[in-house]
Amino acid sequence: MRKIISSLEYLIWQRECLCCGREIPDAAQKFCQSCWSNLQRNVSSVYCRRCGANTGVYLSAGGLKNCESCKNEGFAFDTIIRVGAYDGLLRKIILELKNNDSQHINMLRGIIRSALEQAGIKGQIDYLVPVPLHWTKRLVRGFNQSKTISELLTDFAAVNDCLVRTRATKKQVGLSPEARRKNVAGAFAIRKDHEIQGKTVCLVDDIKTTGATLNECAAVLKSAGAAKVYAAVLAVAGNSDSI
Ligand SMILES: [Zn+2]
Ligand SMILES: [Zn+2]
Repeated sequence: MRKIISSLEYLIWQRECLCCGREIPDAAQKFCQSCWSNLQRNVSSVYCRRCGANTGVYLSAGGLKNCESCKNEGFAFDTIIRVGAYDGLLRKIILELKNNDSQHINMLRGIIRSALEQAGIKGQIDYLVPVPLHWTKRLVRGFNQSKTISELLTDFAAVNDCLVRTRATKKQVGLSPEARRKNVAGAFAIRKDHEIQGKTVCLVDDIKTTGATLNECAAVLKSAGAAKVYAAVLAVAGNSDSI
């Protein structure tokens, strides 16, 4: 019975754009034309390679080391790779990730892969390292979305669960940048018997806001001897976004 209800819901759901609710003439499509165009505009290679913020084409092409918004910030990761800004359809798809729905996950496959390809890291990394959840949170949620994203990328590198969250942290939502940094300080460690000395790794997470979590993870990887740490995320949010 539950199966029948969920397939009915699926049919109803398919007639409306998942993002804006507008009716779609073609039931096989999940988003209206306007939302797809929005996604195409959002998914571009023009962003600051240091913090992931939107930048002008000039900065991106000029290979400058930082943009205006990150010039006073220090990051332990070397370069960030992102799909887009945390906005519009991309935001909607990411929010749906918490349901672990395979259709949504498959929508992300192409766009995250092309972000990594455009960044030219194919063949450059030894491991993909998902940002871990504390085991208590994983138990409640049933999965780690960062690992789900990593598993879309296994032909770039093997997924390595070398990082562990050693204590449960408060949600970062609503915390100031400084409070976010403190909240995750010392919360990660490398598992025993995971050798990352001299390796180039790519941290994987869903969203970067201030970068506090990625920074903490990258610092742990670096102090365990990682030669280079990339960070790959689906979206970069403004520091003030309430996520
Ligand atoms: Zn729409
Ligand atoms: Zn920047």
